Amino acid sequence: MEISTTLSTNPVEDQRLAEVLASPGFGQHFTDHMLTVEWTPDEGWHDARITPYGPISLDPATAVLHYAQETFEGMKAYRHDDGSIWTFRPEENARRMVRSSQRLALPELPPEEFVQAVDALVATDQRWVPDSVGEKSLYLRPFMFASEKFLGVRPAQHVTFMVIASPAGSYFPGGVKPVSLWLTEEYTRAARGGMGAAKTGGNYASSLVAQQEASRHGCDQVVFLDAQEHRYVEELGGMNMYFVHADGRVVTPETGGTILEGITRASVIELAGKLGHEVEERKFAIDEWREGVASGEIVEVFACGTAAVITPVGELRSAQGTVPAPRSTELTMRIRQALVDIQYGRAEDTFGWMHKVC
Ligand SMILES: *Cc1c(COP(=O)(O)O)cnc(C)c1O
Repeated sequence: MEISTTLSTNPVEDQRLAEVLASPGFGQHFTDHMLTVEWTPDEGWHDARITPYGPISLDPATAVLHYAQETFEGMKAYRHDDGSIWTFRPEENARRMVRSSQRLALPELPPEEFVQAVDALVATDQRWVPDSVGEKSLYLRPFMFASEKFLGVRPAQHVTFMVIASPAGSYFPGGVKPVSLWLTEEYTRAARGGMGAAKTGGNYASSLVAQQEASRHGCDQVVFLDAQEHRYVEELGGMNMYFVHADGRVVTPETGGTILEGITRASVIELAGKLGHEVEERKFAIDEWREGVASGEIVEVFACGTAAVITPVGELRSAQGTVPAPRSTELTMRIRQALVDIQYGRAEDTFGWMHKVC
């Protein structure tokens, strides 16, 4: 794919950039450029371009604004101590975007073009990748949406793929601490045959009210049960879950079409295995959590995703009462460190996960 580049005549000044990178927060600041590719049935993917970052103009009848035909990805670029810049398993994000797009009746962007597009934007805006101190990174947001101006209900005949980038601080500026969870018994996230396995904005739109419920109960995040029996743990709004047993076994809910197939999730399965732990992917009932923490059979619970990497889970609250925090975070923190060390180039990448951008 050929990508044209029009550089910004007004890039952020070095001093202002240094201020932003010192304390980037999350999703507030955006780099000097963005990448756009268009798709139509006749031309396929075309007109790939990097242009100065800025607002895009949409007709009020643009399909995505009405019917939410949209998919996205979330990934990060990491700066290593020698100054080089790397992404983590970008082909996995590319392949997942293909699967999400299939579910949303959007066209498939070939994985090598996805990776090329992300690399091109990161290379152009490389001065925006923070140093590695305090787990900072450049968060990357590829997304695809129905950009056709048409109110009929059918897959769009004009689709736009974009990549934007935003420097990100650590999810835990004050050090890693367990998150408290609210178990929603009113809302579910995804039903069988639905779009729970697709990374699409609609899943987030429907989770917000459950997240509000969690906040009202003083909890950090919400955990969803399966839509059919309201019995099995699925995932958080944007993180997958793990349960560590006293004998060292690690259980994570099987994906089965209703859970997002996290790339951190898949990586943790491999890392835990390498650390000598047996990992089971299966249904995990909410009662196993309650009874397991009470009996001491479950010693750690954690959640994972690109934004927070891995976070220990503390208390679980619900209308049925509170399940106390499991007693340990030891394996959680060990896996977390192993993963972060690979991402920042401080440990040997024996899995071949890292991809050098520049
Ligand atoms: C993105 C996402 C995750 C985590 O996936 P990673 O690839 O590990 O970042 C988990 N659950 C949901 C609903 C998500 O959208």
